[in-house]
Amino acid sequence: MDITRQQRHGVLFYACMDPAWRGAAHGFSTRLGGISPAPWDSLDLGANRGDDPANVRENFVRFCAAVGTDARSLVKNHQVHSDLVRPVTRADIQSDPAAPGVYEADGLVTDEPGVCLTIFSGDCIPVLLYDPVRRCIAAAHAGWRGTALGIAARAAEKMCGDYGCRPADILAAIGPGIGPCCFETHVDVPDGLRGGLGVEADPFIHPLSRAGKYQVDLKGANRRWLELAGLDPDHISVCDACTACRLDIFWSHRVQGNARGSMAAMIQLLPTP
Ligand SMILES: [Zn+2]
Repeated sequence: MDITRQQRHGVLFYACMDPAWRGAAHGFSTRLGGISPAPWDSLDLGANRGDDPANVRENFVRFCAAVGTDARSLVKNHQVHSDLVRPVTRADIQSDPAAPGVYEADGLVTDEPGVCLTIFSGDCIPVLLYDPVRRCIAAAHAGWRGTALGIAARAAEKMCGDYGCRPADILAAIGPGIGPCCFETHVDVPDGLRGGLGVEADPFIHPLSRAGKYQVDLKGANRRWLELAGLDPDHISVCDACTACRLDIFWSHRVQGNARGSMAAMIQLLPTP
């Protein structure tokens, strides 16, 4: 199952078009297809980046229309680089798509159709999960701290523990984020990953010739967390696009700092046919 680039109504996004994903509308946004001016040009979906909320609202309407979700059904977190996964229902919907999330967490899970789980990223790794058998979905925001803590695995475990999913049924899409090509770190990031994954982290840590510097593969580490949670490796799709390499289609916190917009990933269960 590949994650491929799609374009609909002028909005560029990434999604898994495999028929297995048909029951869950979902997508990973890019910066293309919205109305915001520089430095948020143009599909800024961030509620607190300084952009006009009217622009963010319209951008959500456009992105949701492109991926087939409902802009009036968004549920968000106040993201804090944790491993907290929050079960949500329709009662958690914030009717204004431009409203910021309030509850501190980095994962969302639900089994209710009509709830659009939404997480934000700008280099961090967005992870979407879908169980087409139990009909349950999750979304997680995995920066390096969240990756070290295993937020993607925590989301899968929440689906299994609280909703009765079986790991073998869960499909995963790991979206656009910073690649090892551009994620050069000090030893704190490798230490963090080893703290969570132990020796399983080693394949994703590449020492550079300069002392104390490393390249780290966060997407690979998130994939490994999901495999350790029991997911079938064939059910895990990874987008190879690097946000820092492709500033023409993405924003990168590492390259651009705070003068940028925010991308989002979202997923919503479709009604049963
Ligand atoms: Zn790169």
